Amino acid sequence: MGLLDKLDAVAAARKALLPEGVDVFGIPIGQIYSATEAKIGDRRILFLGTNNYLGLTFAPECLRAAHEALESEGTGTTGSRMASGSYGGHRALEREFADFYNCLSCIVFTTGYQANLATISGLAGAGDVVLIDGDSHASIYDGCRLSGAEIIRFRHNDITDLDKRLRRLGERSRSTLIIVEGIYSMLGDRAPLADIVKLKDAYQSTLLLDEAHSLGVLGRTGQGLVEETGLIGGVDFITGTFSKSLGGIGGYCVSNHPQLDQLRYVSRPYIFTASPSPATIASTRAALKLLHDGTGLREQLWKNARQLYSRLQELGYQLGPEPSPIIATILDTPQQALALWNGLLEHGIYVNLMLPPAAPDGKSLVRCSVSAAHTSDQMDYAGQAFAELRGTIFQ
Ligand code: PMP
Repeated sequence: MGLLDKLDAVAAARKALLPEGVDVFGIPIGQIYSATEAKIGDRRILFLGTNNYLGLTFAPECLRAAHEALESEGTGTTGSRMASGSYGGHRALEREFADFYNCLSCIVFTTGYQANLATISGLAGAGDVVLIDGDSHASIYDGCRLSGAEIIRFRHNDITDLDKRLRRLGERSRSTLIIVEGIYSMLGDRAPLADIVKLKDAYQSTLLLDEAHSLGVLGRTGQGLVEETGLIGGVDFITGTFSKSLGGIGGYCVSNHPQLDQLRYVSRPYIFTASPSPATIASTRAALKLLHDGTGLREQLWKNARQLYSRLQELGYQLGPEPSPIIATILDTPQQALALWNGLLEHGIYVNLMLPPAAPDGKSLVRCSVSAAHTSDQMDYAGQAFAELRGTIFQ
């Protein structure tokens, strides 16, 4: 097989599955009207698949901060954090994140993907073990591969399976990094953190929690699952992203371990890429303040999430196990998922489609993400569209 034949096979598989003329995974967004509305083709659509949980992408404070930084510091740093790319803003944001979590220190990265790559590959290496939940995000899998450590998966949110695998490791559990997520990106469910912390203590392992989808969403001040459960002391490293609740792009890792800072010298994904732009850092600093004080936004987000989740449940859709701003409709076949996704688009609603192997257990997902910026009427409208499409999907 020639080098490029693999890609021809991808094209053929796409052609067999996806409708002619609709670029399901690359629809161009024509114009953005707000955090919840945009133009696709010639129609106005409701955004119901972004990760804009607090709706901060157009917050005046963030726009103003970004504009000012753009004017005063330029469009990009053109350098890595290690070489001319660490400005005052990068350092200030690291301090602000550390203070937000009451932790010793923080490292800021260019994306959330990179935060996981850098943290995991910096912490674990050949001879160590990474023990990860089966539903982990691709950035966790990729970070594990880059680390060279032995990768072991445990069944999604299954404490008995985690216990069994730690027990089997014997002495090696002490050089094991367990990795879980606050809210899982596929089904919107939370990790059973209290039980996981107990196990990691019992086996003297190290625990990394990715709060990408739970930052700003869970906890009184929005720290995430660590705050909701009061378990921050039990988690060794927290990673997360600026690209969801904070409405920007970038990532972070916070910890009370003084060794965190040494990752700057060993993590290739930190060293060999350009640092976040000044405007990105400035808008993220403004967004972090809003997120911290945003109790009202979190209440609105959860009100919207519960409203849509219970409507879809009443309609008999198979959903993730608990109400969450990520509401995944689980379908048996890719054809059903495509029909629902396309039907929603025809109703002017843009959601996410996940087909195997991207979705777990060979299922297909149509995934909605709710925002605090959505109105109750928009949730009603989405519920109505799901109601109308039910008959055609499950005939
Ligand atoms: N972790 C998780 C759990 C995610 O879902 C994502 C993004 N979907 C990331 C990390 C990567 O974040 P980013 O898109 O900011 O690179």
